[in-house]
Amino acid sequence: MALIDFKCDKCGEKFEEIVKLSNRENIICPKCGSKSIRQIFEGKCSMGGSGKGGGSCSSGSCGGCSGCH
Ligand SMILES: [Zn+2]
Repeated sequence: MALIDFKCDKCGEKFEEIVKLSNRENIICPKCGSKSIRQIFEGKCSMGGSGKGGGSCSSGSCGGCSGCH
């Protein structure tokens, strides 16, 4: 199991959920109940060193680092 960040495509709610890998499709938004949710990969961004210039985020649009907007 892992604590994973999700964002709802419908209402934009961000929430964390502890999920098993096999149970990911059963996650619903706690605010509106939609199943249209998206996983947020903040952990894959390099948020360290200020001199690296960012841009090394593997997801390209995590919204959680300076390289993604
Ligand atoms: Zn929602």
